[in-house]
Amino acid sequence: MSAFTATRIEGIVFDLDGTLYVCDRFAAEIQNASVSYIAGIKGLSHNDAELLMTATRARLTEVSGTIQTISAVCTELGGNVQELHRFFERTLRPEAYLVRDERVIRLLERLAQQYSLYIYTNNNRVLTTRIMDYLGLDGVVHGIFTIDDTWRGKPDEEMVQGVLGRIGLSPHAVLFVGDRYDVDLRIPEQLGCPVYLSQNLEQLLRLEEELLTSR
Ligand SMILES: [Mg+2]
Repeated sequence: MSAFTATRIEGIVFDLDGTLYVCDRFAAEIQNASVSYIAGIKGLSHNDAELLMTATRARLTEVSGTIQTISAVCTELGGNVQELHRFFERTLRPEAYLVRDERVIRLLERLAQQYSLYIYTNNNRVLTTRIMDYLGLDGVVHGIFTIDDTWRGKPDEEMVQGVLGRIGLSPHAVLFVGDRYDVDLRIPEQLGCPVYLSQNLEQLLRLEEELLTSR
């Protein structure tokens, strides 16, 4: 992805899962837990629930033209996003999958010296806090925005406006960083924010360089 043209960036809003860490096994565990939740409320076998969710996701993606979040698929199937997250809190064990990476910790520490850092995630506050603590990233961010603040999952323009309002900076001064363009970046970009797609560690670590060269 080409570098953003930065006009005096003052704040950076990071997505969490898939952005500040990449872990396919934990991502699969989150998917698996969502299947278990849908299986439970629908009275389906795990396998049938998985097939139903895959088909539903494909249909919603076809209709909307954008990739669909777990929250959207869950709601479409009659699930309750709040219940889903309570289920996640009880069953998911990020500590069993994630690995602390000193390079990411140092990156955020350096960035925090020049920018206000925030997290904006479709994960819930309990798990976000656990993951941030476990990864050693808890001390460097100014604020965390989670799905349970409003129960409006990304992508959501009102929520992005709310995040910008809370940060108190104009859109062009706030860089959004995420691993899914449609979910994390499209709306911020439409509102005038610079955006940076990061889908692996190399891209995340390159962010610092991009910020330097864009000045
Ligand atoms: Mg993500």
